[in-house]
Amino acid sequence: MDCDRCGADAVMHAAYSGAHLCENHFTRSVEKRVRRRVREDNLLASDATPESPETWVIGLSGGKDSVVLTEILSDTFGKDPRVELVALSIHEGIEGYRDESLAASEELTEALDIQHTVVGYEEEFGVRMDDVVEDDPENMAPCAYCGVFRRDLLESYAEELGADKLLTGHNLDDEAQTALMNVLEGDIKQVAKHFDASIGGFDDREETEAFVPRAKPLRDVPEKEVALYAHLKDLPAHITECPHASEAYRGEIQELLLKLEENHPGTRHSIMSGYEELAALAADAYGGEDGQALRECTECGSTTSADVCRKCRLLASMEAV
Ligand code: SF4
Repeated sequence: MDCDRCGADAVMHAAYSGAHLCENHFTRSVEKRVRRRVREDNLLASDATPESPETWVIGLSGGKDSVVLTEILSDTFGKDPRVELVALSIHEGIEGYRDESLAASEELTEALDIQHTVVGYEEEFGVRMDDVVEDDPENMAPCAYCGVFRRDLLESYAEELGADKLLTGHNLDDEAQTALMNVLEGDIKQVAKHFDASIGGFDDREETEAFVPRAKPLRDVPEKEVALYAHLKDLPAHITECPHASEAYRGEIQELLLKLEENHPGTRHSIMSGYEELAALAADAYGGEDGQALRECTECGSTTSADVCRKCRLLASMEAV
């Protein structure tokens, strides 16, 4: 097939839009969608200046999504004095997995000349995910522990690095899967939180001072297109799957969505457009923070809705093993 725009050989066909694009037009189209999302989400504060720039901390795992996000943001804002980009990587302590993706992150940030900070569960909490999986004091899936620890570190280090925004590489498939899971689980409070965790598209939301505002500039780009972009640009992305990956339900939803998308192109986009509206209504109904007052964790001082935050409770149960 030929590219719709210039007649060169097409490298991709997007069934949801009908477009056939060559390498040049495809990569430009991905970059355009990310830049449009940044604009529409008002990511760059209007009062940012070269004298008083915004700091955007990017959660960089070294996987294709965060690598592509970092590359495009660097290409777009690398020379803009109103924005400082900082990459933040988390080492979970998973043998033979994270070391390689951190090497990819190092390679990328060095090439792009971006400050890169690496923090680890072991140094911060005294645990490694490999040990957590072995002990499993709460009888939970590994990702349930890991997600709590990761959120805590992203949040606290974003603050320490002076972040005005915390950016993550969630793509369209990730977002549509989470949306569908929340709806199928009937978890409307989680829908409200999903809304609250993102500044995306909700510029009339009052920013809570308790958390660094988050954004997902890649959320309009399907996963396959992110992977193709990383491949065509020869980016140093690490693609091995984590040996503890355990979200079986997400896997089922992923398969379901792929099937739906194949039979009904555009399903992911339509899920997200309806979900954002629903999330705004849910956030209004639940008062943003689940209706619960926020306070400081009595153990670590992080912001939480309980006396002791979830991370400290998990660490305590690990110690008790
Ligand atoms: Fe952690 Fe699960 Fe991701 Fe592995 S797949 S790094 S255990 S959240």
